[in-house]
Amino acid sequence: MKCQSCRKDAVISSSEGRYCAVHFQKNFEDRVIGTIKKYKLISKGEKIAVANSGGKDSLSLLYILSKYFSKTNRIVSVTIDEGIHGYRNKTIETMEEHCKRLGIDYKIYSYKDFFGKPMDEITRVKEGIPCATCGTLRRYLINYAAMDVGADKVATAHNMDDEAESVLMNLLQNDLGKLLRLGPYSGIVKSDGFVPRIKPFMFIGEKETMLFSILRGIDALHTPCFYAGLGFRGMISRKVKELESFSPGSKREIVTKIIALKEKYGESYGGDAEIGRCEQCGSPASSRLCDACTIKNELAAI
Ligand code: SF4
Ligand SMILES: [Zn+2]
Ligand SMILES: [Zn+2]
Repeated sequence: MKCQSCRKDAVISSSEGRYCAVHFQKNFEDRVIGTIKKYKLISKGEKIAVANSGGKDSLSLLYILSKYFSKTNRIVSVTIDEGIHGYRNKTIETMEEHCKRLGIDYKIYSYKDFFGKPMDEITRVKEGIPCATCGTLRRYLINYAAMDVGADKVATAHNMDDEAESVLMNLLQNDLGKLLRLGPYSGIVKSDGFVPRIKPFMFIGEKETMLFSILRGIDALHTPCFYAGLGFRGMISRKVKELESFSPGSKREIVTKIIALKEKYGESYGGDAEIGRCEQCGSPASSRLCDACTIKNELAAI
């Protein structure tokens, strides 16, 4: 199997092409920068907070944003410490090393400080799938962190696999609102309490990020969180992988379609809708309390 650009031995062959190590890295970076330019994800002078877990995806994103945007933009790193012993404490060490090496300021926000309990304890006391609770708390805290550091945008390393899974989950749950919030830039609801989210890796597959991080010498933990793979998302994730191997290019088709749908219907589906405020924390909320405060109160009562 030969590289389609130089005829050296290829290290990867997928629906995105066949490349040797050098041309794969070039193609990877070009596609990320292409996504940023096409969807106008970053403007000159903006302060960008990278949601950095210390895993292979977010460290690869930090590396690319720092390489291409540190002269024109301020890049900072924010990390959410869910409190998962044996996993997050290790990735946080890696995150710190990489930020120091790249000269990037970083800040850590923990579930224990904000919600009273680390995730390991939450999974012991609260019923249900851990990722459902964890996802809500993390989304809240990432937004809080981005506001706290004064970022104009927050960049996450969500990739094509994550996005295809989210599309299918929201379709099957018949949640048009959440479906139209997907895509390379966040939200159909505008509020000064939300920092816009961008996903420069939207057209990059999970295996590609893994390979990129290895080739770039990013020594991240390559195993997922202990609680990953459970529940509905875990099942959909396995189906997306099956679908991609049965019909290569399916993930790209799914995410491309959702962008077209969002561009057509996003604004008419409440694009300028006003949103209320959580009575407890003041953050944007569609009911009296935001989801994170509801969980926080529930945990405090257990
Ligand atoms: S896999 Fe689930 S529990 Fe683990 S960090 Fe992700 S959302 Fe949280
Ligand atoms: Zn090549
Ligand atoms: Zn709240």
